Amino acid sequence: MSPSKIPLAGVIGSPVAHSRSPQLHGHWLKTYGIAGYYVPMDVAREDLEMVLRALPRMGFVGVNVTIPHKEAVLEIADLVTDRATLIGAANTLIFRKDGKIHADNTDGYGFIENLKAGAPGWAARNGPAAVLGAGGAARAVVASLLDAGVPEIRISNRTRVRAEKLKSDFGSRLRIYDWVQAGNMVDGAALLVNTTSLGMIGKGELRVPLDGLSAATVVTDLVYAPLKTNLLQTAEETGCTAVDGLGMLLHQAVPGFERWFGQRPEVDRATRAAALR
Ligand code: NAP
Repeated sequence: MSPSKIPLAGVIGSPVAHSRSPQLHGHWLKTYGIAGYYVPMDVAREDLEMVLRALPRMGFVGVNVTIPHKEAVLEIADLVTDRATLIGAANTLIFRKDGKIHADNTDGYGFIENLKAGAPGWAARNGPAAVLGAGGAARAVVASLLDAGVPEIRISNRTRVRAEKLKSDFGSRLRIYDWVQAGNMVDGAALLVNTTSLGMIGKGELRVPLDGLSAATVVTDLVYAPLKTNLLQTAEETGCTAVDGLGMLLHQAVPGFERWFGQRPEVDRATRAAALR
């Protein structure tokens, strides 16, 4: 990029109007006095490759990718990190100076950083993790928990075959529970994670019975609208450390911002406030 060019980045999805990433990155650009822009781009699947190839020529240094393009970009990218390949999806693209598109997945990084920040007492060696759901976000969470060294991951999904696919992709530390018995997973678990969309505004409620939950279990929800889901409310009432999902969204954005704009941004109270605006 020539020094006179203003660096541009953005988020590609469809729909994309609900994304909080423009507020978040806009806040960091302002905070660090960087003369760049971050824009939402609603792009249809059939236009995805053409758009991605054109963006670097317009001064874009990279983009975030969200639903429904996280899987499709893997086929378009020239270089894909091992973790994005394992997860089967990318959320961060870097447009390299040599014209190549580099795809990475930072969701797992964001998940672990959020956990470290919100539950400093949690450590991978503390014991089994119980994961509700087996969609795209669950794959990133499972990959990061295995990487962190969690001894066992219990997983339950409404559609069992999706959980079985995770076990066959991620290996023997995973144990599958039937969805109707998902509540049993919390017995002795050091961590409980909701990766389903249940509990989100406009979606159904998560109805997994949590009578076996103990105060020693750290509970986190990937859903961040509302910020305090019923799951986190129940966790707090039980005396558990409860970690909301907004922090994951903020932390997953850090590596992209740093690569694009050359500044590692801080995730602090002001960042949270900006993302919630
Ligand atoms: P996805 O691939 O569509 O997976 C959705 C998951 O929710 C699946 O496990 C699905 O089960 C389950 N589910 C949906 N409706 C259900 C129902 N009525 N009963 C039982 N299970 C149900 O979506 P995703 O990308 O993994 O995202 C999942 C959630 O995580 C979303 O709310 C998303 O906003 C959130 N998320 C948050 C962050 C963050 O930074 N905080 C990052 C990524 C995702 P089936 O397989 O049976 O359909």
